[in-house]
Amino acid sequence: MEVKIGFEVHLQLRTERKLYCDCPTNYAEVPPNTNVCPICTGMPGAKPMRPNRAAVEAAVEISLMLGCRVRTGEPLHILRKHYDYPDLPSGYQRTSVPLAVEGVLEGVRIREVHLEEDPGQYDPVSGTVDFNRSGIPLVEIVTEPDLRSPEEARRFLRLLTRVLEYTGRVRPEAGGAMRADVNVSLEGGGRVEVKNINSVKGAYRALKFELQRQAERLRRGQGVSRETRAYLESQMITVPMRAKELEEDYRYIPDPDLPPILLGEELVEEVRRRMVEPPHLRERRLVERYGIPLQAARVITSERELADLFERVAGEVDPLLAADWFRTKLKKVLNYLGLRAGEVGFSAGQLLSLLKMVESGRISREQGELVLRELVRRPEDPERILLRLGLSPLREGELEELVGRVLEENREAVQDYLGGRKEALNFLTGKVVGASGGRADPREVVRILRERLEGLRGRD
Ligand code: ADP
Ligand code: MG
Ligand code: ZN
Repeated sequence: MEVKIGFEVHLQLRTERKLYCDCPTNYAEVPPNTNVCPICTGMPGAKPMRPNRAAVEAAVEISLMLGCRVRTGEPLHILRKHYDYPDLPSGYQRTSVPLAVEGVLEGVRIREVHLEEDPGQYDPVSGTVDFNRSGIPLVEIVTEPDLRSPEEARRFLRLLTRVLEYTGRVRPEAGGAMRADVNVSLEGGGRVEVKNINSVKGAYRALKFELQRQAERLRRGQGVSRETRAYLESQMITVPMRAKELEEDYRYIPDPDLPPILLGEELVEEVRRRMVEPPHLRERRLVERYGIPLQAARVITSERELADLFERVAGEVDPLLAADWFRTKLKKVLNYLGLRAGEVGFSAGQLLSLLKMVESGRISREQGELVLRELVRRPEDPERILLRLGLSPLREGELEELVGRVLEENREAVQDYLGGRKEALNFLTGKVVGASGGRADPREVVRILRERLEGLRGRD
């Protein structure tokens, strides 16, 4: 049975000011109803200001990241979408016609991108409304129904949020600002739209539930009617909300208080020039350019700042070593401290000198991890951190010297190794570690020894 899934995803744009007034947007940090004015509370007679330019540019950038064609040179109307709810005092929400159309993200077609405004926040228990959020710019992204399973849908939503966060133009999903409507149908049944989804996990669970419910009904010959359902996060189920409104129910009309938006080619080109490389393309480029595993590239590109940091060190140290440290150790420390890569205080140079110490075998991996943890917590030159931790690393080049000496002094073992007796490597490793007074990392010693020995072989 063919499954079709499509999304309408809403995210808040990160702007200083609201969309049609000058109120600030830090709604979560201030007391209720303090970031408000007659415009964003829909007072009679209050006229909206022209749409916030930063919001329009953000929507254009997001459209371009999603490979959309921006509709330049034609008037793009802002519509009033009417409905009644306590969080919407004017009785309508302003929503633009599509600003961009026909994009694609990893094989999923993007139908269109709109600019919208957030309503206020209604608390049905106390019956109060907080209008701080009212008028915050939103971008709505509508996909074609190209997804075929909850797993695929989840992967897509993760990628989409990653792409959008990369632009730096949306509020991070972690802040709970993502809202999605999930449309899902099975062959032979009507399409169901599930609302109230506010996380990737929620979307996945709602889809799992909904597909099972629909399949069951079809199996019993009960049919699936077209409807809108709500997802109940706490119970992980969907329940009927209402029969789907017809388009006319919203009584869309162009807002007579606002001139249409007109997007110029120059603006689009300017945004395109400034735009960052999208993460899914960057991921591929990192794999090709540095020869690192896809898994590592995926983790590294999960945050733009992490990828930037990686690229600053990857040219100067073995990229495989760097990738491994990023994917496992650095990511682990950041997660543990609840830090995003953009928040770290150390410099690329400091991280680089740490990785070089590890690469050259001056310190062991375990010591390196200790230093890394300190580097994230209290950024400082790694050499100083070593002192602070009371670690005594090998001098620059000391390990190479030790290896050279041990090879000189144990020619017999060297010949054994070259003759095919691989155990000789363990013997030599033991000698080097011993000579270092136990400070050398055996794994590094093995690596360097092997390199030197294979080099000798080449000369025969
Ligand atoms: P509406 O006008 O009801 O909002 P749209 O045609 O604009 O409907 O589509 C809204 C969403 O529904 C889109 O994300 C689209 O991908 C999805 N969709 C359309 N047809 C189907 C279908 N048969 N099964 C699942 N999703 C669908
Ligand atoms: Mg719709
Ligand atoms: Zn306002």
